Amino acid sequence: MKHILMLATGGTIASRETGQGLAPAITSREILGYVPAIGELCRVETMQLMNLDSSNLGPSHWLRMARAIEAHYDRYDGFVVTHGTDTMAYTAAALSYLIQFSPKPIVLTGSQKSICLENTDARMNLYNAFLYAAAEGSRGVSLVFDGKVILGTRARKERTKSFNAFSSVDYPEIGVIRDGRLIRYLPALDAKESPDFYHTLEDRVLLLTLIPGMGTEALAALEDSYQAVILQSFGVGGLPGGGSGPFAQAVERWLQAGKTIVMLTQVPYEGSDMAVYQVGYQVKEKYRLLEGYNMTLEAAVTKLMWVLGRTRDPEQVEALFYRPVQWDIIR
Ligand code: ASP
Repeated sequence: MKHILMLATGGTIASRETGQGLAPAITSREILGYVPAIGELCRVETMQLMNLDSSNLGPSHWLRMARAIEAHYDRYDGFVVTHGTDTMAYTAAALSYLIQFSPKPIVLTGSQKSICLENTDARMNLYNAFLYAAAEGSRGVSLVFDGKVILGTRARKERTKSFNAFSSVDYPEIGVIRDGRLIRYLPALDAKESPDFYHTLEDRVLLLTLIPGMGTEALAALEDSYQAVILQSFGVGGLPGGGSGPFAQAVERWLQAGKTIVMLTQVPYEGSDMAVYQVGYQVKEKYRLLEGYNMTLEAAVTKLMWVLGRTRDPEQVEALFYRPVQWDIIR
């Protein structure tokens, strides 16, 4: 029987009503106690890493999760991380960069309703996460939710209330779990004998979503506080004014200060291609900025944090950012 470590971090799955809204209170042991059938799939030990609403999680917590997995990597065959759904896609992407080429599965799950309620998705999601973690051939970082198995670099929360909260964006689900049976759609991810672990993230990454008619004041004002900015632009990608407007000048100042700029689209599906329109083409030709293509926002943010945690050299930043990790970018 496989030996799986469950790392609990909080979220709705662990929540109780406080009189002032839901807050995580149920412990990792108690969570597991709600689904005794997991005992038939694998041998489980649990660890309470934190017990927080995922709105309160960030890069320092992602590093703690990755360190805990690294510290226990050799003793277990796989890992299940229980987590709030609100920022689970960010954590899944961050762990995909912090732990690469893992021959063992690292599976995130959570729920829209607390595990202590009768009509909850929590018990099924938890069971499915363990089923996937204990299955032969499961590798890398993934998210299991509502019967879908989604790559950690491709997940996004798209619904705030329904049980089918997560989608796999611009990449197929790697498998589904139906009636307790795992059906794999795609072959296993590449893995090494032991994974590459990383221990640093640059958290001074800013996201700026453009709206029509917007000026560049915010971009200029925030330049000193951040090492990188993701400009979430329109359509396949472009900047108001193209290569010669005030946005282009602001971009030039950021780049001259040694900062990184990534262009991403705010359209949910199908990604960017800045070469299509003049407003994008000119910018891309004139400046050394990066383009997210079909990366998710969550993957772009956390990949940038990981890349800048390793290097600031523009050439190396570019090479690392464009090097695919778990199918996060397809050009
Ligand atoms: N606010 C909760 C959290 O992200 C939502 C959930 O888990 O579904 O922790």
